[in-house]
Amino acid sequence: MHKYQWVSLYRLYDRTHGLLLIIKKLQYPVTFLEGPVQVSCPQCRQTVLSQVHHSSGLLTYLLCGGLFFCGFVLGCCLIPFCVDRMKDAKHTCPTCKAVLGVYKRL
Ligand SMILES: [Zn+2]
Repeated sequence: MHKYQWVSLYRLYDRTHGLLLIIKKLQYPVTFLEGPVQVSCPQCRQTVLSQVHHSSGLLTYLLCGGLFFCGFVLGCCLIPFCVDRMKDAKHTCPTCKAVLGVYKRL
């Protein structure tokens, strides 16, 4: 089973006293994987389906190096850079473009 976690929703400030109150809510921790996930955006506070952008991560470079040392010619080493499954997945909010989380392969 998943464990609930506290997520900050609103911070109430007062000009003279500074931070007054933090309102938190309890929600399931969101696990970011390869595909889009439904998550409440901390920036625009809407429940959105995250947009996934793939970028070359550590695994991509390790695979590239691994292929190179196994005797593959230079062109084959670049295969990991063309395959999304070997890349990190960055989740962003479709509304405000805030980065919601990153799924790393390693
Ligand atoms: Zn947003």
